[in-house]
Amino acid sequence: MNIRSVILHRIKMSLIAPFATSYGAYTDRETIIVQVVDEQGLSGWGECVAFATPWYTEETVQGAWSMMEQFLIPPLLEQPIAHPEELTELWQGIRRNKMAKAGLEMAIWDLYSKRLNKPLYEVMGGNSQPLNVGVAIGLQHNIARYYELIDGYIEQGYERVKVKIKPGNDVELIAAIRKRYPHLALMADANSAYSLSDIAHLQQLDPYGLLMIEQPLAVDDIIDHARLQGELTTPICLDESIISYDDVRHALQLGSCRIINVKLGRVGGWNEALRIHQLCLENNIPLWCGGMLETGIGRAHNLALASLPGFTLPGDISASNRYWERDIILPEVVIDEGKVHLPQGAGIGFEVDLDYMESLTLQKLEVRK
Ligand code: MG
Repeated sequence: MNIRSVILHRIKMSLIAPFATSYGAYTDRETIIVQVVDEQGLSGWGECVAFATPWYTEETVQGAWSMMEQFLIPPLLEQPIAHPEELTELWQGIRRNKMAKAGLEMAIWDLYSKRLNKPLYEVMGGNSQPLNVGVAIGLQHNIARYYELIDGYIEQGYERVKVKIKPGNDVELIAAIRKRYPHLALMADANSAYSLSDIAHLQQLDPYGLLMIEQPLAVDDIIDHARLQGELTTPICLDESIISYDDVRHALQLGSCRIINVKLGRVGGWNEALRIHQLCLENNIPLWCGGMLETGIGRAHNLALASLPGFTLPGDISASNRYWERDIILPEVVIDEGKVHLPQGAGIGFEVDLDYMESLTLQKLEVRK
């Protein structure tokens, strides 16, 4: 592959409804769409999932933009790339900056699959079965609103519901939801809102049969989670703490979790995600694909990720209309009888709606060879 140019599109999209977590609320999503163009004029697409502010990890839209422009794009244009796996080595001298790397890596994997004229999921070793879907609900102001949302999502076919929790909005919330939906596959995401002094408090969640509690403790912790997992019957799932293969290896050795959420952006892209997938398959650790309020481009990569055999739990694989009035891909991701069908076209399998994306663009940069 001879990469002729890399085009970064910084866009802003309004969310259908604000999305609140234990860190704060979002009403719109700024993101960087990454386009790589080869010598034949074919384009590969990726998405850098950093947020405008560093609430989830240290990366931000502006920081990732300059990281890509200054450090990650120049070596990509220097010489042809035989295989996307080479990117790990190409950037190994650049520490972390996982989301910036992942955005470019996704685009190159898409391009690579298009050059092979094969769907991305097939190139990655995924299977073509329709995917089970789960949905995440941000913090709401009253229980009636949760019921209303959950009723709607169940009707649309979502099989698993995740709610955000934080101190003061946790045990009673879960108890109320469980009472109304005794058989719902339900999980809670704490986004690091607790500490080890909350063990007794978190044990109160155990009777409610949650599928898992996601990331209860600090964003970079693996050790305290092992202590907490020893005290809980509810499986812990790590999200923010896992940014590499080695983090997974450490977590499994220590018993810090029983489930892992994989996000391409958080772990630095496809190459690292595939290594993590292999390790978890060998250790019988179930995986699921998390969401980052992606546009259709990031969502399309998530569908391919969720098609891998180790992804046995429904992920945050929502339809485009869960978040957006109108998505930037054609066709949009839809839920059909409770499932999402994998697109059969080459690469990510969706067209990018260039005119619409242009209308959302705040900043554009083209770096040529
Ligand atoms: Mg999470």
